[in-house]
Amino acid sequence: MSDRREALGANLAVVQDRIARATAVAGRAVDDVELVVVTKYFPAADVDLLVDLGVRHIGENKDQEAGAKVAELSRRDLVTVHFVGQLQSNKVGHVAAYADVVQSVDRPKIVSALDRAVGRHDRTLEVLLQVSLEDRAGRGGVVPEEALRLADLVGDAAHLTLRGVMAVAPLGGEARRSFARLREVADGIRAGHPDATWISAGMSGDLEEAVAEGATHLRVGTAILGSRASLG
Ligand SMILES: *Cc1c(COP(=O)(O)O)cnc(C)c1O
Repeated sequence: MSDRREALGANLAVVQDRIARATAVAGRAVDDVELVVVTKYFPAADVDLLVDLGVRHIGENKDQEAGAKVAELSRRDLVTVHFVGQLQSNKVGHVAAYADVVQSVDRPKIVSALDRAVGRHDRTLEVLLQVSLEDRAGRGGVVPEEALRLADLVGDAAHLTLRGVMAVAPLGGEARRSFARLREVADGIRAGHPDATWISAGMSGDLEEAVAEGATHLRVGTAILGSRASLG
């Protein structure tokens, strides 16, 4: 067994154990929470090892690298690819070609561009709305007050399926309080969109808080792949 495979396997086991404990504390079933391993900046060879270790969901943040990486995967058929990065309307055509889920939809222009692009590929795409939990406009995301209106737009799009919401806890804030706010937004959207049941929240540093507030999808990078800074 290669050193890299061993390291990834050990890190994965630690994260799975954290998820098991967090779900037990919250009185939730461990199967209610899906682990999305965020593999941005790491090579397709790492993704192949992770798939071998049982990972079935990966997240990519940078369109510049994600398309080629996904095309290189040995077992693309086993993997659900989540795009979690910032979207530009002139780039969504590219993202639509390789992503199965886009978690970072945050404005009407992206909804229409994505719908058109997916239509050209003659398929459908699962979509999450990225919600901003910052006090002031920050790193992207729709503000909670406008989330319902955006949800209705996705609901009306012919080739998109609204599955829920995604957020990143604000830096320096109290993660649990942010995720509680996200859960409220999710509940509001689900009232009119019964299939929008996913809450993507929680990363390497705050997955326990996210599980406590109902997260169904965790996006974990560093805790499994190691520090991106070490890549040089
Ligand atoms: C990189 C990234 C993650 C993973 O963050 P870690 O702290 O490395 O676990 C999660 N979500 C998004 C949107 C990311 O870009």
